[in-house]
Amino acid sequence: MPAALPWPAPARASAHAGAAPTAAERAAAAWGAPLPSGWVPTPFREFVLKVASRCNLDCDYCYVYHLADQSWRAQPRFIADATVAATADRIAEHVRTHDLEFVNIRLHGGEPLLAGRERLRRIVGALRERLAPLTEVIVTVQTNGVLLGESMAAFLVEEDIGVGISLDGDRQANDLHRTYGDGRSSYDEVIAGIQMMQRPEFSSHFLGLLCTIQLAADPVRVWEALLGLDAGGVDFLLPHGTWELPPPGLAPGDGRTPYADWLIPLFDRWFDAPVRPLSVRTFESLLHLLLGGVGAHESFGLAPVALVVIESDGSYEQVDTMKAVGQGAAASGRTVFADPLDALFDVPAFVQRQLGLHGLAESCRGCEVVTTCGAGLFPHRYRSHGAYTNPTVYCADQYALIAHMQRRVEEALARRGTTLAAVRAG
Ligand code: SF4
Repeated sequence: MPAALPWPAPARASAHAGAAPTAAERAAAAWGAPLPSGWVPTPFREFVLKVASRCNLDCDYCYVYHLADQSWRAQPRFIADATVAATADRIAEHVRTHDLEFVNIRLHGGEPLLAGRERLRRIVGALRERLAPLTEVIVTVQTNGVLLGESMAAFLVEEDIGVGISLDGDRQANDLHRTYGDGRSSYDEVIAGIQMMQRPEFSSHFLGLLCTIQLAADPVRVWEALLGLDAGGVDFLLPHGTWELPPPGLAPGDGRTPYADWLIPLFDRWFDAPVRPLSVRTFESLLHLLLGGVGAHESFGLAPVALVVIESDGSYEQVDTMKAVGQGAAASGRTVFADPLDALFDVPAFVQRQLGLHGLAESCRGCEVVTTCGAGLFPHRYRSHGAYTNPTVYCADQYALIAHMQRRVEEALARRGTTLAAVRAG
């Protein structure tokens, strides 16, 4: 298991005698190799704000508490008002610098609803007060759902906060991992939370479900449970792991593709349905990329990733799923108190995630599905040799899923007298 950052902690920029280096110049210095001609960093537009560092569930696959990084122990339980104010100032500065038309702020944890209504009201109020005069502010929360009673749901709608809920399918699938600390099931409370958000007065702010794939669960039962909930949308997530610590059920190189085998029957049901019964972001994003679109999904495609995590102590971090890699792997060495967001373009991982093809392993750059796959989620690429310049540990699964989807799309297009190449060109 890697014990620390896979590269040395980034040095702070020293006082510069002449003109201040541009963000692109700083990024090139951080990357340590020439960048593509004309490349410029993409400003951050998505901010994952850790409002609470603890959770009321104890899901045993959680990347925050049960994988390699244990930094949550040193975090304040809740973000302080002063940290929120500094965060709002830093985002406002970034909006002005880059003339951003919108920002997405995702309230996250731990379990963010543990922060309680009054603290959340102060947090969202402070962010909107500072940012709304400058740009569109979209606020969402990702919750485990067990605290979604009527008063909380009403509060979230009143504050115009979109709500995503985590649920891994039917009771049996959900109870495999998503339990309380004493092993009790969370299923009934989560379903009650989903039903609360489905009430007519709240449903405008229900964004759908996040479902982590459990190989031990029957995919068709999971699918039918999700359909039965009539939740509008779902995103299937792959469990976190790396080449060093492979995800459950995966033995890279053994020729099996268990996660593709789990997803393909669901894709076929979804694709063959006369009317799409459920919006599945995973499939929609991959189809969009297959048809020649530019990705908006962090796990696929080659689009620059414009996401930054702000921890509850005010430190900037890479995507929090990097906690699956090792202690400190997500750390940037930068904080909202000391550094503008542009300072993150000095940090190699932030740069690499914006380099598209240029930032990938040679084997990925030559892969026929790379524009769709994009080498997968950044932490899943980690290997002690080559750090994040590797294919995803899910390489065989992603290839198999994408190849299957491509075949199905080509067959469907052929029935309409056209080809994938023609659609991509047109
Ligand atoms: S399928 Fe494998 S080789 Fe191809 S882009 Fe994805 S991770 Fe890289």
